[in-house]
Amino acid sequence: MKNINIAIDGPAGAGKSTIAKMVSAKLGYIYVDTGALYRACALYITENNIPDEDIEKSLPNARLSIKFADGVQRVFLGDRDVSGLIRTPEISMAASRTSAIPAVRAYLFETQKKIARENNVIMDGRDIGTVVLPNADVKIFLTASAEERAKRRYKELAEKPDCPTYENILEDIKKRDYQDMHRETAPLKQAEDAVLVDTTKLTLEQSAEKIIEMIGEKL
Ligand code: C5P
Repeated sequence: MKNINIAIDGPAGAGKSTIAKMVSAKLGYIYVDTGALYRACALYITENNIPDEDIEKSLPNARLSIKFADGVQRVFLGDRDVSGLIRTPEISMAASRTSAIPAVRAYLFETQKKIARENNVIMDGRDIGTVVLPNADVKIFLTASAEERAKRRYKELAEKPDCPTYENILEDIKKRDYQDMHRETAPLKQAEDAVLVDTTKLTLEQSAEKIIEMIGEKL
């Protein structure tokens, strides 16, 4: 029997990962965070100072892999678990830049397809409904205003040392939105058959409930 594939796309900070985790826990599906794959590529490229023209031939040496322990995704470069290292503002910006390079997207394409073929998945990213899983059973485009997304990110980071200011976060979010929406290959956009969910005025729980309801109706 074909596995169920649910695609959730949208800009940074719309709540995709938190909501996808809640929904996948409820449905017993695997949650795949594809942004982490782009981040791991960006980390590899940055750490090794790889110029753009050498990325295509160097990426296979990254030995990037993804593993699931108790439903939690971990990303590896070789034997090194980089799941924590990829969560910095520098890597966010680097991932947004390097993800526009077609060789990076091509390198990650089959990895994502294979996981979706072999499992019931909720996969989140920017081009899942449009490019990676065009035949997904349910497609959701999750969004919220840039100000609301920056506010959420600020709250998340406020406790941490070196927390950026709200203004810096907002600026980064707007810059990333622009880069992600205006790149030539697989730009961030709503698939024609995706349902738009705006979470600006919803809590994460309300958003997750709405999506679980939608999935229930569709499947
Ligand atoms: O989702 P997250 O913010 O971790 O993604 C980091 C960056 O990776 C995004 O800004 C985007 O440029 C890129 N990305 C992508 N396609 C995906 C997932 C992420 O281009 N499917």
